[in-house]
Amino acid sequence: MIDTKASAAIPILDLKQQYVAIQDEINTAIQGVLESTQFVLGPAVNELERRVAAYCECQHGVGVASGTDALRLSLAALEIGPGDEVITTPFTFVATANTISHSGAKPVFVDIEPGTYNLDPAAVEDAITPRTKAIMPVHLYGQSAEMDTIMDVAERYGLKIIEDCAQAIGARYKGKRLGSIGHIGCLSFFPSKNLGAYGDAGMVVTNDEGLAEKIDVLRRQGGHKKYYHEVLGFNSRLDTLQAAILNVKLNYLEQWNEGRRTVAHRYNDLLSDMPVVTPYESPDSHHVYHQYTIRSPQRDELASHLKEHGVSTMIYYPIPLHHQQLYAEMSALHFPNAELAGREVLSLPIFPELTERDQEFIADTIRGFFDGR
Ligand SMILES: *Cc1c(COP(=O)(O)O)cnc(C)c1O
Repeated sequence: MIDTKASAAIPILDLKQQYVAIQDEINTAIQGVLESTQFVLGPAVNELERRVAAYCECQHGVGVASGTDALRLSLAALEIGPGDEVITTPFTFVATANTISHSGAKPVFVDIEPGTYNLDPAAVEDAITPRTKAIMPVHLYGQSAEMDTIMDVAERYGLKIIEDCAQAIGARYKGKRLGSIGHIGCLSFFPSKNLGAYGDAGMVVTNDEGLAEKIDVLRRQGGHKKYYHEVLGFNSRLDTLQAAILNVKLNYLEQWNEGRRTVAHRYNDLLSDMPVVTPYESPDSHHVYHQYTIRSPQRDELASHLKEHGVSTMIYYPIPLHHQQLYAEMSALHFPNAELAGREVLSLPIFPELTERDQEFIADTIRGFFDGR
């Protein structure tokens, strides 16, 4: 017999349980930084850079202030700016595209594949012009874009690839870690990401030593040496407290990502006979389920029904970027797969600690919606 009421509201994400489980280690790490007083680019940053780069199967890691800055500094290091075009998806978080706009280049959107919600490689090739400098694939919800085809297009046209791995740390494509396939991989450690700091933080990973060095210089006001500035830089360093926290949390990332996969596969079973589309997992991908996203033409009603029963959900993302006010000049464009996804997707609660009982309750609540209960 399944309860008709959840024992308590079920949040989309519960960061408290995770903190409580590793509280002593975290508090010790924070205390260590406070006592060292090396708050900016202290030793924990370098340690994290080495460890995250190794985890992502890359030679270099450069810690920056956020995932957004990882993208922004990558574009700057690749010298992408006014007059250039960068091809990306409209079905993503705004930072993917607004960093391109901030660089002075133009984001050129192309449609997504309906199964993975990621860039459609055929559409990418059709959008290439003489101004195209780079492609920015996003590995949405924790699953890889179709990288072989995208890399092939990039090689044929001499384009750079900036992977937006903000949602996909630890995921793989044909055995390779995301971030190690393109020229640069951008990670976010925003608190809700699979590896989350306790504030903003991000990192660039790459196998290109020259690019790593450029980003290292860009993040500290454009100079190798203090008060000597060679290029137009930024102030964008990953702070030591966040690095110390992340060094503790990185030890658990594999276990947490596996926990997310277990939760996702359990949802697949629980929802298998219901009229919703469960996530497609490509055989080429090791998906890390940053989000567990279903779709239904009755998405809004289903979300309200879940809310009435104490289950939080989110819509990532309701308005594709080409229809945002920010990009009003693109409002006449149509990307049917992205637009339909925006109307139909619904992300359910997912975090490694989500219990089987709560998942059963969520599934039963969804069943109740379709049964008119
Ligand atoms: C979170 C996110 C970002 C930005 O990361 P921040 O650390 O929040 O700046 C960029 N792209 C995608 C796809 C994201 O999910």
